[in-house]
Amino acid sequence: MITRLAGVRVDTGQETEFWVVDGRVTYSRVAGEQTVVSGWILPGLVDAHAHIGLDAGGAVDRTTSRTYARADLAAGVTLIRDLGSPADLRWAHDEPGLPRLITAGRHIARPRRYIRGLAVEVEPEDLAAEMRRQALAGDGWVKLVGDWIDREAGDLTPLWPVEAVREGIVAAHAAGARVTAHCFGEQSVFELVRAGIDCIEHGCGLDADTCSLMAARAVALVPTLDNWQIFPGLADQGEARYPAYAAHMRALYARRTATIRQALAAGVPVYAGTDAGGTRAHGTLGPEIAALAALGGPEFALGAASWRAREWLGAGTLDEGAPADLLVLPRDPRRDLTALAAPSLILLGGVPYGPSNASGTTATPSRVR
Ligand SMILES: [Zn+2]
Repeated sequence: MITRLAGVRVDTGQETEFWVVDGRVTYSRVAGEQTVVSGWILPGLVDAHAHIGLDAGGAVDRTTSRTYARADLAAGVTLIRDLGSPADLRWAHDEPGLPRLITAGRHIARPRRYIRGLAVEVEPEDLAAEMRRQALAGDGWVKLVGDWIDREAGDLTPLWPVEAVREGIVAAHAAGARVTAHCFGEQSVFELVRAGIDCIEHGCGLDADTCSLMAARAVALVPTLDNWQIFPGLADQGEARYPAYAAHMRALYARRTATIRQALAAGVPVYAGTDAGGTRAHGTLGPEIAALAALGGPEFALGAASWRAREWLGAGTLDEGAPADLLVLPRDPRRDLTALAAPSLILLGGVPYGPSNASGTTATPSRVR
């Protein structure tokens, strides 16, 4: 059965009509029996920071990864940028019914400077070689841990000398990958942006000058804003042994709204990511979109989670011949973001997601009109 989609494309604001044939979009009229689905049509959502290969205890098996990825798809996420997995996820590219996946190989950290069991751990002299290795293992991204608690200093400090990371970024770029880093504090983000990094995760310590530089160089920011709610808990845990760290985390948390507003005002390209995996549940992009909308408005937040993120990652939108990865919503999400919570239809490569195919079998398209 061929599906005809009719309604308003949320990314362009234009009335549209197109068909899904063999999993792809076509604007050439198709004859024959058709299922018609109408509503507000949104290019598939992107979770630009998630982890389907780990949980709080380390690497997970394939069955668990599948469950995570399906939970994301149920929330309308048809593309995941997986930012670090101790388990090899390459198998997931070939499995039907899972969101498309862009992997970054494993996190790169220094010994004893990140969550135990997640990262490949190297000293600075081996950083460039490891970044090249992870660049070749992943799908065009390398993930560094930029800063973490330094137990000797009793506070967040950068993991890497600037010269080592600069060399590593050159090596990753030469291997065809972009580089991003986990940064909670001020110093790591200051140094890494100047060292030529392509993206920053969290970015809680951004200052005005660094925001201007990021905007000028189109360095992206994935704030994982809704997940900053864990900061007070991290501060409480560290309070007794590391009071300076605890105070620092609380200060970063207290000015979180001002920090992201500053990035938006400077024109930093901001994208939506959940950081699902470690402690945060999968399928939670909706609250992140709402958090971004509270700062930049719904149109901005929807773009950050859909068409702008797709273009940034080279996934395209709903042009002729594109894979039919999309949501149909019963109301205009630019006016009412709660429409995202109850899509009439989610298509991944033209295959509808729904309770009837929640375990991966095929289903018939839902008829809306
Ligand atoms: Zn993460």
